[in-house]
Amino acid sequence: MTTGHPRSHRRNRRRLPRLLLAIGVVGVLAAVAYVVVPQLLPPGPRPLFQMPVGCGETWQVGTYPGHGDYDVDFFPLKGDQWGQPVLASYAGTVTVAGINGSLGGRTPDNPEGPRGRGGGYWVKIDHGGRWETQYLHLLEPPMVAVGDQVVQGEQIGRIGSTGNSGAPHLHYEQRVGWRKVETWFDGQPSGITHDDAEYTMRLTSNNCAGAQS
Ligand SMILES: [Zn+2]
Repeated sequence: MTTGHPRSHRRNRRRLPRLLLAIGVVGVLAAVAYVVVPQLLPPGPRPLFQMPVGCGETWQVGTYPGHGDYDVDFFPLKGDQWGQPVLASYAGTVTVAGINGSLGGRTPDNPEGPRGRGGGYWVKIDHGGRWETQYLHLLEPPMVAVGDQVVQGEQIGRIGSTGNSGAPHLHYEQRVGWRKVETWFDGQPSGITHDDAEYTMRLTSNNCAGAQS
């Protein structure tokens, strides 16, 4: 007994690769349109970023050799190192709220626990005009979710030591598209542009817009 319809089978077999190719081409074009083209456009004006910590608080801000150019670490100078609020530097849309690398086991109860990898609990916010900020090593799962709109000064998490972190602190970056840039706070450049040497300073937060809410 013979089976079925060999001609139509053959035709389907020939059509499938063409269909997959067409889907692939459309996918690549969509990626170019939505991912690459926006990156080629000139960035918007720099948002008036504020420090990602409480209004009026003075924090140690700095970097160290091997940290990464433009990367900034925030260490609290007052109160419990763990759990202090991390605030959005500027209004925007949350594009990442999750785990980068692995969490490790450094907690308030076990501060010398095993180090994780990467950023641990982290948040990324898109501020428009290709500007974004990143907040790493948060203590707990972020207080915001992907797609949330945040206002300047809104709490997004708490200071912790998840990921590759020695002690509770906030690792913070400002980016334009794929490029890290010098961090600016309250309209002033931080001066942290390379990681050749250990460098720390004290800065007082003027992230006060959200304080009334
Ligand atoms: Zn760092």
